[in-house]
Amino acid sequence: MAADMFDISGRVALVTGSSRGIGNAIARGLAAAGAVVVLNGLDADRLEGARAALAAEFGEDRIFARRFDVTDAAEVADGVAWVEREVGPLEILVNNAGVQHRVPMLELDVEDWERVLRTNLTSAFLVGREAARHMIPRGRGKIINIASVQTDLARPTIAPYTASKGGIRNLTRAMTAEWAAEGLQINAIAPGYIHTEMTQNLVDDEAFNSWILGRTPAHRWGSVEDIVGPAIWLASDASKFVNGQVVFIDGGMTTVV
Ligand code: NDP
Repeated sequence: MAADMFDISGRVALVTGSSRGIGNAIARGLAAAGAVVVLNGLDADRLEGARAALAAEFGEDRIFARRFDVTDAAEVADGVAWVEREVGPLEILVNNAGVQHRVPMLELDVEDWERVLRTNLTSAFLVGREAARHMIPRGRGKIINIASVQTDLARPTIAPYTASKGGIRNLTRAMTAEWAAEGLQINAIAPGYIHTEMTQNLVDDEAFNSWILGRTPAHRWGSVEDIVGPAIWLASDASKFVNGQVVFIDGGMTTVV
C-alpha cells in the first residue's frame, strides 16, 4: 500500500540536462522506478551515448532522447511538443540543466551573468511553462526544479550562479501560486556537495575535503544516489500535498554555521 504511493510505472518524465551528472542519475532513478524517461542535453553525441546506455538497461521503449537548448523558447516548445506526440503525455518534468561560471564579481562580464541566469533560471520558466500548458488541461503534473545549497548560501566568485539558484526558489513558489490549484505539484530539490567525476579533484584536495566534512553535519559528501529517493518522492503520488517547497539534500549543511 505505502509502496504504491511511490509507483511511477509508465509515467512519462522529461529530465533536462540528463546526458551526464546529476540529471543522468535522476533519469536513471526515475527509470528504475518504472517511468518512461526522455533525456535531454546539448551535445548530440553525448546525449545519444546516454540514451543508448539507459536503453540497454531499461529497454528501447522506456528511454528516449531529444536534443534542445533549454534557453531557446522555440526549441523548448518544439521539444516538449515532440515528447507529447512521440512518447506520451508528460507527467513529470525535472528542470535540471545548469552551468557554473567562477569569476570575482568585479571582473564579471554581463554576457556571462546573463548566460548563467538564462541557463539556470530562465530555462526552468521556459520548459516549466511549456510543460504546464500540457499538464494543466489534464489536471495533473509534477515539476521538480533543481536548486542548490547556493539557493540559501553565497560564496565568493559565483554571483550569477547564487542569484540564479535563489531565483529557482521563488520561481518554484510562483509556479505553485499559479498552478497548484490546477492539480500540479511544483517543488525544488537543493543538492549539497555531491561526489561526482566533476568534483573528484575537490575530494582529492585535502584542505577542501576536510572543510566540506567539517561544514557538513553528516560528515560526508553526498552521492548522486542520495538525490534519487527524494526525486522519486516528489515525482510520485506520495507528495500530493507537497507544494512550493525546497528540499535541501545536503547532509545538514544549510542548517548549521
Ligand atoms: P553537469 O555539468 O554534469 O551537466 C549539465 C547538463 O546540462 C548536461 O547534460 C548539459 O548538456 C546540460 N545543459 C547545459 N546547458 C544546456 C542547455 N542550454 N540546454 C540543454 N541542456 C543543457 O551538471 P551537474 O550534474 O553538476 O548539475 C546538474 C544540476 O544540478 C545543475 O542545475 C546544477 O546547478 C545542480 N547542482 C549541482 C551540484 C553538484 O555538486 N554538481 C550541487 C548542487 C546543484 P551537454 O552535456 O550537452 O553539455
